Amino acid sequence: MSVFDINNLVRNNIAQLKAYSSARDEFDQDSEGMVFLDANESPFSNGVNRYPDPQQQKVKALLSKQKGLASNQILLGNGSDEVLDLIFRAFCEPNRDNVVLLPPTYGMYGVLAALNAIAVKEILLTEKFDINLEKTLSAVDKQSKLIFLCSPNNPSGNLLSAQKIRALIENFNGLVVIDEAYIDFSLTQSWLKELDKYPNLIITQTLSKAYGMAGIRLGVCYASKAIIEILNRIKPPYNINKLSQEKAIERLKKVAEVQEEIKRILKERTLLEKALKNISFVENIYPSDANFILVKVDDANERYAQLIEKGIVIRNRTTQVLCKNTLRLTVGTEIENKQLLKALEELN
Ligand SMILES: *Cc1c(COP(=O)(O)O)cnc(C)c1O
Repeated sequence: MSVFDINNLVRNNIAQLKAYSSARDEFDQDSEGMVFLDANESPFSNGVNRYPDPQQQKVKALLSKQKGLASNQILLGNGSDEVLDLIFRAFCEPNRDNVVLLPPTYGMYGVLAALNAIAVKEILLTEKFDINLEKTLSAVDKQSKLIFLCSPNNPSGNLLSAQKIRALIENFNGLVVIDEAYIDFSLTQSWLKELDKYPNLIITQTLSKAYGMAGIRLGVCYASKAIIEILNRIKPPYNINKLSQEKAIERLKKVAEVQEEIKRILKERTLLEKALKNISFVENIYPSDANFILVKVDDANERYAQLIEKGIVIRNRTTQVLCKNTLRLTVGTEIENKQLLKALEELN
């Protein structure tokens, strides 16, 4: 592998782009005693009459402390989906470049590729939903800019092999993006501590799952200072609104509460896994490192419809590759899981 230089990967137009400098980039609201007549805002206070901090410094300061990374290694997006889109736009030239996806996996990677006119090379995961290392490495070509890895993977729930992830990072000249949306439910450590070692690694996380804040839309991207600087230049100036920033700060401070909720989910996941073994039409329960369980049943379409009838909505994954007749069950509260199990038992 040649020496990695991010400047060889970034699109020309992006390399030359001068970021829009917003009023709040030039003077932030915390400059005490200043009169702000620069952004055509309303002067009448109501809590949200001023534009939000475009660099979300308070949110990043908390994340920086908790994750042990510098603030300039963090970029926030309106959900991970925006973060992923920024990565496409920074590094993939429409109608020329391609990205590598390992299905069955999160559907947004493919949607974002299509949206950005980027070709997709799909290399199936193995039967056990792990990386097919040789095939993946031999699929990449000079126009391959990104490999997306989802670990723990959605919809299968398992972690991908760390050894294989490392082999991809070390042998691919483009960027490896590890989507760790579910990492907080895993006892295995995040890849964050490897960031300083690998300049071609990008890690995304989110407040939507373990932090219980899907409604505020806050995704987080961790990478080298150089990568974050590029993404920062192309992000919409005020992409995280003030209410979301405030909510995130409040929540990030409640470390014990978040940990307690994760523990409850893990306990419930174990109970669900056990109980599902007693359901006759459940043929396989896939190991999960996430807050959901993928199960194989006799007839996913029928079971899905029967559960809807009983007022329980789960996700039917039967149309996904390697997922024939599978259903994805999110772990809910103790009461919700009991309702799910009761419904399944009635269908037994
Ligand atoms: C839920 C999920 C996300 C979260 O996306 P947000 O836009 O941050 O809500 C990201 N990746 C995967 C694989 C997910 O399942």
